[in-house]
Amino acid sequence: MSAERDQERAQERALELADSLERVRQRVAEAERAAGRAAGSVQLVVVTKTFPAVDVRLLAGCGATDVGESREPEAGEKARACADLPLRWHQVGQVQTRKAGAVAAWADVVHSVDRERLVAALERGHARALERGERPAGHVLDVLLQVDLADDDERDPGRGGCAPAEVPQLAEAVAGAAGLQLAGVMAVAPAGVDPRGPFERLAEVAAALRAEHPRASAVSAGMSGDLEAAVAAGATHVRVGRAVLGARPAIV
Ligand SMILES: *Cc1c(COP(=O)(O)O)cnc(C)c1O
Repeated sequence: MSAERDQERAQERALELADSLERVRQRVAEAERAAGRAAGSVQLVVVTKTFPAVDVRLLAGCGATDVGESREPEAGEKARACADLPLRWHQVGQVQTRKAGAVAAWADVVHSVDRERLVAALERGHARALERGERPAGHVLDVLLQVDLADDDERDPGRGGCAPAEVPQLAEAVAGAAGLQLAGVMAVAPAGVDPRGPFERLAEVAAALRAEHPRASAVSAGMSGDLEAAVAAGATHVRVGRAVLGARPAIV
């Protein structure tokens, strides 16, 4: 009886995720159209933090290709539990320097690099992961620079991100690091403001970066609440959690 009920719940969850993923895909497609951008020009990264590996598996079954995580050890454990799936794994949240090695063992993209010490720690951690065979030979870790778009006196260290003025030097550090590839920029819109201004600002930072590093073309911006504004401003990646998976405990 209870096994039956479990199976019923699993089926319900599968339907629920398929449905919400489809709705978010439609939101992205509509935002692309509204912005006059090509269909499929925005990559959806489904942020699965706090949700179990079984949800990641269901999402992969619905065609999700990119998933985002935030915290150790949950992230690494989930990525290893799903290693058989054809997924690209993104670290979207802040990375403590001492956790960089753990992140480099599973992530394909780190969106939140905001200081040189973290670049050095990721470079070392990635080299070690290659040595240990945790990453296939030739694996490259894509790195986005997280930019804090708040005014100088309103920077929130909890949200992370470097000042726009720090981007060029940090970009050089990543470009010079073995095994890391500078891929673009990322931002989280400051709370309580219209996100359009900050996202336009990010687009300017991204254009300046591309002028020096033409391959660093990714712009990661937009979450469940503001993905339309991000796509309108030129985001190439949106990071969506709640709108696909449902509410999370408030701590993350
Ligand atoms: C959790 C998280 C997201 C997803 O946020 P939702 O509001 O659930 O869509 C996106 N980006 C970062 C950096 C996050 O930590």
